[in-house]
Amino acid sequence: MRGLVKNQGRHKMLPKLPDRNPLEPARIPLPREAVKEMVIPNVLDDDERIWVEHRDQVWTRPLCLNVSNGYWTELLRVRKSGVLHRHRHPNPVHGLVLKGRWHYLEHDWVAEEGSYVFEPPGETHTLIVPEGVDEMITFFHVTGCLYYIDPDGNPLGYDDVFTLIDDCRAYYTKVGLGADFVDQFIR
Ligand code: FE
Repeated sequence: MRGLVKNQGRHKMLPKLPDRNPLEPARIPLPREAVKEMVIPNVLDDDERIWVEHRDQVWTRPLCLNVSNGYWTELLRVRKSGVLHRHRHPNPVHGLVLKGRWHYLEHDWVAEEGSYVFEPPGETHTLIVPEGVDEMITFFHVTGCLYYIDPDGNPLGYDDVFTLIDDCRAYYTKVGLGADFVDQFIR
């Protein structure tokens, strides 16, 4: 791996050539075509209206809505026990459980608070928040779409970054933040 050297059995992130001024900031400009970085402080504690309520007690807090690579990052928050609709992922998903716990009907493991989950392309699942969990919050990085299906794989619809943006626009209009509020999350 580039930049990684072996040192007495331990790996350290170091350049292979000597750097005489390791604390000097880079002088090179951001590439002209690069999109703007994004820093969102206090994602768990900011304006409650930013949490888009998809349905009763199920919210998405958009973080990065990437329209050129077709992925999004979000916080999913659920404040009831119950089911999120069965769906297939044609592309990978990464998740990090920040609060509470959940599991899939299709797997025997439980994603506990602090767990990281990788879901490979081709994965189909039905998310369950069990009884006794007052609040579940999970960071998800989803590429592609959620392809809703019946138990035999027949299509029932989909969501992708564009339907999510549409949902955010409609919701932010309704709660008074304005249709353009979602634009700050789009890259
Ligand atoms: Fe999923």
